[in-house]
Amino acid sequence: MTAAPTDLAALTSSAYKQALEVIASVEPRIADATRQELADQRASLKLIASENYASPAVLLTMGTWFSDKYAEGTVGHRFYAGCQNVDTVETLAAEHAKELFGAEYAYAQPHSGIDANLTAYWAILAQRVEGPWLENAGVKNMNDLSDADWEKLRHELGNQRLLGMSLDSGGHLTHGFRPNISGKMFHQQQYGTDPETGLIDYDALRAKAKEFKPLILVAGYSAYPRRVNFAKMREIADEVGATLMVDMAHFAGLVAGKVFQGEENPVPYADVVTTTTHKSLRGPRGGLILATKEYAGNVDRGCPMVLGGPLSHVMAAKAVALAEAKTEAFQTYAQNVADNAKSLAEGFLTRGAKLVTGGTDNHLVLLDVTSFGLTGRQAEQALLDAGVVTNRNSVPADPNGAWYTSGIRFGTPALTTRGFGHDEFDNVAELVVDVLSNTTPGVTKDGGASKATYKLADGIADKTRAASAEMLDKHPLYPGLDLA
Ligand code: PLP
Repeated sequence: MTAAPTDLAALTSSAYKQALEVIASVEPRIADATRQELADQRASLKLIASENYASPAVLLTMGTWFSDKYAEGTVGHRFYAGCQNVDTVETLAAEHAKELFGAEYAYAQPHSGIDANLTAYWAILAQRVEGPWLENAGVKNMNDLSDADWEKLRHELGNQRLLGMSLDSGGHLTHGFRPNISGKMFHQQQYGTDPETGLIDYDALRAKAKEFKPLILVAGYSAYPRRVNFAKMREIADEVGATLMVDMAHFAGLVAGKVFQGEENPVPYADVVTTTTHKSLRGPRGGLILATKEYAGNVDRGCPMVLGGPLSHVMAAKAVALAEAKTEAFQTYAQNVADNAKSLAEGFLTRGAKLVTGGTDNHLVLLDVTSFGLTGRQAEQALLDAGVVTNRNSVPADPNGAWYTSGIRFGTPALTTRGFGHDEFDNVAELVVDVLSNTTPGVTKDGGASKATYKLADGIADKTRAASAEMLDKHPLYPGLDLA
């Protein structure tokens, strides 16, 4: 019998109270910090697009003895004994993922989004470069290659091409950004967005792909406020013989919740899809890979190729979160995330603010703060002073570079989980515009405008916190969870 919601809140309260007592008996400062983190999250407007609030069931699943188990290998084929329960967990996580996303294969081991991307890249290299090379050399195992041939294969693996979205257009570090390993292990080029519209220009992308001929075309983003047409991405990949990899880390929840369907759903179009499980998907911090049957064998070799022992306790929590994401309630949630992003964008636009691409049709909004005379860094800090938690972000062709930036990225997944709707998000826009309109840049020693320091007018932080508290109190985080 499943517990009624009020029973669940009472059970959760008692579980956490007791857990914190156990922790405090060893290191009370960690118990205190844990309590304080809940208080801080409860009291702030969390608008970071990559964050969410996982359910108590997901959180509790992570705190178990599965953490103690080594299970290198794959289901039924481990390098350690006694992995039968980990096999159950990993199988459930993969089965839920396959069913939820309609994928042919799922791999639940990556510890994070970056691990998932690195594993996917090496799986594609194994599929497209290493496999054919070994076949050509007539050997099954790379250890059987002569030293000279091994050197040639290593050279070949290290000289492949990757085309991904540039960081300032909304791509992720792992999509070929030079300081990241992806920009070093591949010859990389980046595609951007149209300077006028801020949108992906598929014709320009096609032309670039035809010229560059990448082995891998990466679609997906961290800060692009629009949906992507994956049918077009597939066409482009096919025209140049590239493997299409989609990183849906940010919008996996919108795919799971069936907000992104047809050509907006990457799964039927991509060879390999990677994701995190902790953003809009609302699971534990972790990664996940979906693949076609063709790529499954090589993705399954994530360990030993890239990974060591899987985090079995996190895989268990992934299974719980994926089970949650299959429910109708999650579909409603995902639709609300997208509707709320529209409300937030409209709230900004009606108050005269400037948005990259002029709006949104996913879960995030990118506000260009140059019209307030601020850098992203100043805006981020002023908002934080007022209890509004966001992160600064580059805008296309950002004049302030990747550190100071000119944008603030807002996301709706977390506050939608708390129950915020249209009116609250409109109010959030009002509060943000009020804070930024009352912030002025500081002055450098030589009298110029500072990119870092700022002055928030007196009284604005308190006023904003009071207005936020009214909304936050109506939509408590983890209602009924009482640690007192
Ligand atoms: N891919 C995308 C598109 C992301 O936005 C992120 C994180 O922000 C990642 C990958 C990396 O995820 P993680 O922080 O779990 O390594």
